Amino acid sequence: MTARNLFLAPLITLAISAGAQGLPDLGDVSSATLSESQERTIGNRIMRDIRVDPAFVDDPEIADYLTGLGTRLMAAADIPRRDVDYFVVQDDTVNAFAMIGGHIGVHSALFTLTQTESELAGVVAHEIAHILQKHQARSIAGQTRSQWASLAALAVAILASQKGGSQGSQVTEAAMTSAMAMQIQNQLDYTREHEREADRVGLTLLERAGFDTRGMAAFFERMLRSNRLSEYKGAPSYLRTHPLTTERIADMQDRIEHPGGIPKAGVFSAAKGSYDSFEYRLVRAKLRANAGSPSEGVALMRASLADATVVRPREDVYGLAVALRRARDFAGAWNTLAPLREGPSHPAFERLAGQILADQKRDAEALAIYKAGVKSFPESRALLHGYLDLLIQRGQPRDVLADLDERLRTTVDDVRLYELQARAYEATGRPIAQHRAQAEALYRRGNLQAAVQQLETAIRMKGGDFYETSSVESRLRELRTLLENERAAEKALKIS
Ligand SMILES: [Zn+2]
Repeated sequence: MTARNLFLAPLITLAISAGAQGLPDLGDVSSATLSESQERTIGNRIMRDIRVDPAFVDDPEIADYLTGLGTRLMAAADIPRRDVDYFVVQDDTVNAFAMIGGHIGVHSALFTLTQTESELAGVVAHEIAHILQKHQARSIAGQTRSQWASLAALAVAILASQKGGSQGSQVTEAAMTSAMAMQIQNQLDYTREHEREADRVGLTLLERAGFDTRGMAAFFERMLRSNRLSEYKGAPSYLRTHPLTTERIADMQDRIEHPGGIPKAGVFSAAKGSYDSFEYRLVRAKLRANAGSPSEGVALMRASLADATVVRPREDVYGLAVALRRARDFAGAWNTLAPLREGPSHPAFERLAGQILADQKRDAEALAIYKAGVKSFPESRALLHGYLDLLIQRGQPRDVLADLDERLRTTVDDVRLYELQARAYEATGRPIAQHRAQAEALYRRGNLQAAVQQLETAIRMKGGDFYETSSVESRLRELRTLLENERAAEKALKIS
């Protein structure tokens, strides 16, 4: 399932569940704008599905890079929003999207198609602008009663055809579903006015955050051109959701080149990669190495290195090591990585070294690398996760609990740490604490209902001390209140 499909799914659910009881009373959905809690509810609904999809890139090195980039751009806004999250989807179509509730997704193929960090920043800035300007919330709220009614009618037809069960009706069902999906799609595509506004706001963010503003126009122009040449199979996805015209590109260029708009970006060199951060280049190389089959990844990275006649870029050497590990050529991966680790290393190199050793069950050596790495690079979540995970696997959960006890006092937003803590509690036979930690993880993954269930399970268990039990009870009260708010928002939207 691609992110686009995922993105549509809950809205289809919305129409279908409304249709299940006959044509629904559409309430005030059509007339009012969505409240913030309604937006958050829809956004969380969608993210819950996306986060468990295999295409969701749950890699802290990649996630942290994109979050850092997004945060830097967002900080340049007049009124920055702090609740926006940024993620990568492994998908070979070129696309990026913003969802209401504040979620920005970038397809891996779009990421690797960018040639400079400013180009990527341009795309992210444009998506941030859609969120800041509430374009999608406006589109959804702007649906007329008759449009929602026709969607609901289609949903009823689909339900009826599902009951038929013959092969013929399945074809009808598929046709109807795609017709409906297309109809919703058309309603959610941004208008040209939205696009122009997102370009304008996005360019301002890009300039203020210190990127090369020409990156945005250059990348969009390249997409438009490649779409005509059909050079990249995925280009149309982005162009379908973000209507792109030559006028838009001319507008952008005009803003960049004329005073009064965006200052001229004369200090930058347009030469490829001149101002790219090393993190950008590493993440891009990793995504390239992870695309396609393992052998395709190896071939791609070898070809990149063969093109580099003078210097072998360190990121491409790293990418080749990543690809070789994927292809389970551990010796090849290790030997490729080795020269990069001589002298001052990088957390990504140490993480990969630990992974290659752990893959070969050389746990003690892997642990030594992780332990040193966590000390040298305390900000690297990837090294920390690898270290704690291996400690649990090696039967040292008490060391994990001791470490996390300290760490979770200050770091409260890393879901993976709570998941590791839950596993460590399980391994040490402390079920109440285990369910409590699982609840914290689920809450942070946007699944309130499951979080509440974990706490209810914990309450029913015997053997907790007074402090532990009352702490679980007070957390349960808090999360139940949040869940009630979420349900009220869902009810107002008629999704249930
Ligand atoms: Zn757009």
